[in-house]
This record gives sequence, structure tokens and C-alpha cells, in this order.
Amino acid sequence: MKIKNILDNSKSWVTIMSLLPLNPLKGTFITKKERMMIGAVASFRGLGVKIIRKSIISVTTFLLILTLFLTGCNPNPNSSSLNKNARIKALIVNGQMNASHDYTQTTPIVKKILEITGIFRVDIATTPKKGGDMSTFKPKFSDYDVIVIDYDGDEWPEETKASFVDYMKKGGGMLVVHSSDNAFPNWAAYNEMIGLGGWNGRNEKDGQYVYWEKGEIVRNDTIGSAGHHGKQVPVLVETRDFEHPILKGLPTSWMHAPDELYGNLRGPGKNMDILATAFSDTETGGTGKNEPVLFTIKYGEGRVFHTVFGHVNGKGPHEQMQCAGFIVTLQRGAEWAATGEVLQAIPAEFPNFTGYTIWPNYQPLSLEDLVKAIKKYELGDSEENLTALTLRIRKSDQSPETLDKYEKVMIGILESNATDDAKKYICRQLGLWGTEKCIPALEKLKSNKNCSELAEFALEQIQN
Ligand code: ZN
Repeated sequence: MKIKNILDNSKSWVTIMSLLPLNPLKGTFITKKERMMIGAVASFRGLGVKIIRKSIISVTTFLLILTLFLTGCNPNPNSSSLNKNARIKALIVNGQMNASHDYTQTTPIVKKILEITGIFRVDIATTPKKGGDMSTFKPKFSDYDVIVIDYDGDEWPEETKASFVDYMKKGGGMLVVHSSDNAFPNWAAYNEMIGLGGWNGRNEKDGQYVYWEKGEIVRNDTIGSAGHHGKQVPVLVETRDFEHPILKGLPTSWMHAPDELYGNLRGPGKNMDILATAFSDTETGGTGKNEPVLFTIKYGEGRVFHTVFGHVNGKGPHEQMQCAGFIVTLQRGAEWAATGEVLQAIPAEFPNFTGYTIWPNYQPLSLEDLVKAIKKYELGDSEENLTALTLRIRKSDQSPETLDKYEKVMIGILESNATDDAKKYICRQLGLWGTEKCIPALEKLKSNKNCSELAEFALEQIQN
């Protein structure tokens, strides 16, 4: 129903768009995305002009700064392979996986996604190969704040299972990523921890189907197998628990990159909180239901975060896991599972319902790299980087110093060897919120016949 609403809204957007003036850059009608960007920048400009310097910072900001000071952590620093002073210790368990997945692809990615935050230090415990002597596999779970399961294979020794159950009951943290909810179909405690699982012979004996319908959770006893996914298509993720620390502050819906959207999962589903669902469309082979995609489970004193996303195809590239929505929810889910709270900042570039965002290096580009990418922009390319710059400005502190910094960046692009299409885009932005500081660069650009019209447009806007 929600998807349908969005599609209907898209149609009305198109109708509205057809009434808008021509896009001076492309000579076409202004697209939905451009319209949103213009709106965003315009509202930001309004705020920027009226900005009131606050002398008192908010309690939240104060607590965040205090925490960072005490822990010595930056929420989003550059990647550090060691993170020696990281405050959260994570252990990834891998070693065997079913034929559809490959832990040698997923484990390094999960490790990188966690370590890039600067707050996690990640170790890996690898089991013997399938059919090997498992009796030696005895990781010391209690040394870690969160255990990431990247495993579907032979049973662990009873002693290891018991120590994991004990660890969780006493307040451990656990992360379940995609096909790790296929593992251990016959281990009752594991199935309680993951809440819902699929495949490996799971059916009605393992619990109910759980999904979302008309604003509430439905538990269904229908006889049938557990585990299904349709074609890998972009997925609209919709928040159902707005107050949960993992999702608090994120958009209420966003697009996830093409991925296997698990559905028809079954399980005990005890003490489970569904944070987000996604509609699995029958037209692309799905279940026709709003399937739980991000959920948490309370197991004893322990906390579990389960994401059904994160499939990998062969050797990649693995856009399913390079997706900003996957990365940020995994980082926040891991922090919550480990500590019960989330202190990480939300990147300005987090996507919304209009499209998914890929971070090839698992984090937003630095401003320097973003500018480099924008300088190469040609009409018809993805506008992802242009949007990223706009969002970064809009979601900044909007202080005069910050606005001045971004205006200098834009002037720098105009004065560089950037493509004419990049310069035209910048002219359009400066026309919306530039100051007299950019006038000399715009005047100079009037001699470029491809850009002169847009440069004049910007000058007119600024001088008015
Ligand atoms: Zn998969």
C-alpha cells in the first residue's frame, strides 16, 4: 500500500514537474531530484540568512562531545586497520557458508564497515572447514562486546554452544547478517536469538511467519517452508520503530540497493522488535508482504541486531553491502548490540526514498574527493555527488564560517579545469545562495560560451 502511495505521489510529482519552468542547464523540465535539491538549498539559504548564533549548545551535542572527549573517538574518522583505542571489541565468526554465499567476500567487508567508524576493533574466529574436527573451535566470546555471525555450516561443539548461550544470557551482543539466519536450524537457543530464520529445512515446526500488515505485526501459523526472496531489486525500507536508537534520526524510509529481500522467515520471534520492514513485490518474485528487514531480539540480558540484507554475488562488486543504508544500519546496530546505545553521527548523505546511495569505500567521500568527482561531472552521469554536496551543506551547522567554506569550494570549481556541466551546476547553486564573494568568478565565466547563460543567471540572482 505504501509503495503504491509513493508511486501515486511520483505521478503527481510528474504532473507538478510538467508545470515547472525549463531547467536552464539541460533545456528540459526540472526533474524530481533537481526540484528537491533546489528546494533543499533554498530552505537552507533561508535558514542561513536568518541564522542566529546559539551560545548554548544542546544537551545532546554536549553529551556527544563529552563522550567523544572521554573515549577519544571521532564518530567517523578515516579508516584505521587497528583502532587500538576503540571502545568496542567485535568478533566475527566465519569458516563455513552455504553454497549461495561466500564468507571470504563478506567478512572483510563487515570488518571494514565496523572499523571505519573508529569505535570498533574487530577480530575473526574461523572454524575448521566443513567436516573438519570442530572440537578445537572454542572462541572466548566473553572477551568481546559483540559477536558477528558470518557462518552457516557444521554444528559447533556443545561446549562452544553453551558458552555462547551463557555469553548472550549475561548481556552479550550479537549481529546477524543475511544468510547467518540460515544457520543452525536445529539449535533452539540460536533460533531464539535470531528471532526468525529461513531455509535448511525450516518450516511450521520452527515457528510462525511474522510480517507487517495494516500497521501491526501479524503472526501466521500457515503450514509451509521458511525462507524466500525474489529478484534482486532496489528495496524501499520503511521504519516501524521510530524511537529505537538504531534508527532514531534516520529518514523514515530510504532506498536500499538491489539485494535479496528475505521473506517468509519463520521462528520463535520472542522478545522481538521490528525496526523496519520492506514490501516484497510479487511482480519481482516476492512474497507480497511487508517483510521484517531490520529487527532486534532481547535474549536474556543480551541484545541481538538482525539485518536480512547483505547478499553477495560472486566476487563483486557488492553494492548490496556498499549501500549507505546497509552500512549505517550495520554500524549503528552493532554499536547498539554491544552497548545498548548509539552515539555515532548520521552521515549527511544518508539516502531517502528517492534513491539508494553507493559508497564504494564504505564511507562518504571526503570533501576533497567529492570536489574532484564533481569536477568530472558530465550531463547524464549519476547526480549522486552533486546531491551529496548539497546535502552536506544543508545538514552542516550552517554557521557563517561553514557557508563561507562551501562558497569557496564552489568558487574553486568555477576557477578550475572542471567540466562545463559541473560549472553550470555550480552556477545554479550559487544563484540560489551565493554572496558577493563569488561575483568575480561568475563574471569571468561569462566569457565561456557554454556557461555564460548560467553565469549571468547566477549574477542576476545574487545582485537581486
Ligand atoms: Zn543471499
